[in-house]
Amino acid sequence: MQNPLPRISPPFRLPIGLALAFFASSLFAKEERPNILFIFTDDHATQAISAYGGMLAEIAPTPHLDRLAAEGILFRKCYVTNSICGPARAVIQTGKYSHLNGFRQNGDRFDGSQSTAPKYLQKAGYQTAVIGKWHLASTPTGYDHFEVLRGQGAYYNPMLITNGENVDHVGYTTDLITEQSLDWLEDERDPDKPFFLMVQQKAPHGRWEPAIRHLELFDDIEIPEPPTLFDDYSGRARPISQNRARMLEEMNDFRLMIKYSSKHTPEQLKPFDAYFRPRNEAMLADNLNDFERKKWNYQRYIKNYLRCVKAVDESIGELLEYLDETGLADNTIVIYSSDQGFYLGEHGLFDKRWMYEESLRTPLLVRWPGVAKAGTVNDSDIVSNLDYAQTFLDLAGADIPDDMQGRSLVPVFKNETPKDWRKYHYYHYYEHGGHGVPLHFGVTDGRFKLIRYPDKENDTWELFDLESDPMEMKNIYGQTNPEIQKTLETQLKRLRAAYDLPEDELEGLKASSQR
Ligand code: CA
Repeated sequence: MQNPLPRISPPFRLPIGLALAFFASSLFAKEERPNILFIFTDDHATQAISAYGGMLAEIAPTPHLDRLAAEGILFRKCYVTNSICGPARAVIQTGKYSHLNGFRQNGDRFDGSQSTAPKYLQKAGYQTAVIGKWHLASTPTGYDHFEVLRGQGAYYNPMLITNGENVDHVGYTTDLITEQSLDWLEDERDPDKPFFLMVQQKAPHGRWEPAIRHLELFDDIEIPEPPTLFDDYSGRARPISQNRARMLEEMNDFRLMIKYSSKHTPEQLKPFDAYFRPRNEAMLADNLNDFERKKWNYQRYIKNYLRCVKAVDESIGELLEYLDETGLADNTIVIYSSDQGFYLGEHGLFDKRWMYEESLRTPLLVRWPGVAKAGTVNDSDIVSNLDYAQTFLDLAGADIPDDMQGRSLVPVFKNETPKDWRKYHYYHYYEHGGHGVPLHFGVTDGRFKLIRYPDKENDTWELFDLESDPMEMKNIYGQTNPEIQKTLETQLKRLRAAYDLPEDELEGLKASSQR
């Protein structure tokens, strides 16, 4: 796509049919089609990427992610369709919402017989590989090489299911996934084909176990607290007050590294224990009250989270360096994203699931040398993980099947966003009761957000205006903006029909309750 049409010098003229054939074969010759390196993490909030700014940017810089942003595009309005690990992955594989790809909640099993982006890419002549967290329960299909963690995997010494065989590894999982990816690029990549490689980190998913080398990072620093750490949930509808991912109550000893039962080797456990044990004992001896303990929990949590992010950032540095050194960088599109956002103490929470901004929004950074303008910040277009599958196919020059539900982001990358680009995004979370979060769905236009928590008797609704209330502290449903509310209600109905949601709006709720 970067190269102009092949030039044919005047004395060398072919019959038109032959010329077209020559043109087509040149256009799709292997060196013309870009490689796609998709780097993906789990639970990585935009608040923890310094290129996105925010209160952690200076304290916990992510220079390699920032490099991607500086050399490419940073999206501020990338929204997920269902803010939880497995379902987000199923959406990316298929380009379809959860109710159509069949993976509504963690614990479901992905139907690997359905059509997926990697299968289409294989057909189009790409070599495909996935290395790292898979979390879809069934065996990966559509990959020439797969090397995946079982379920959530572990932070230390993971087993990687490698093309069907269980292979044990010793080391820190973020590093190992990176090393295995580099090994694949170096040793198993077919130089005659473009590649599609998904490097999928477990980090920074909980329980947050840092690498030994990062244990003392941020040790002497007091990380600033988000303004809503002590949110009392007044001003919102009832659901959020019933959540069970609270910084005090649900941040248990294992999540805080007060206890650890990880698979450390004795050599790993020694420094790990030497770091945490004395600090834990000192805190326990202090007999903190709830207020103090919540603050301590936040510090312990955010530091371990950011330490896990640090290893992710270093991993990205290694991958980018490899592309530079091998000359692959120029013809490789690098895409960075996470399965969803995360609460870093906002609203007193950790975890995800809610349609509130911190978990609805996911990072998206795209570097496409020579095409995407370096240093672009896109804060206007609403894009989604629903779009990734079609984008991969479009980048590869492959046909996009009609049953995918997103849109290719290729014109957006080129700064040629179509005039009819989406103005509204539909969200639907199914895992009813997980961490106290009920099934809910809603719509946003990037400023206003309407959320419905359906119920057999009484529905609950929330409406937020991010412009006047960026932290979503005041539910204005039924209070002001009747026209906005009406518009969003209409859009909600329209999108549910457009995306083939069942007409029975409680359908998902019933299915979820039967589990
Ligand atoms: Ca996740």
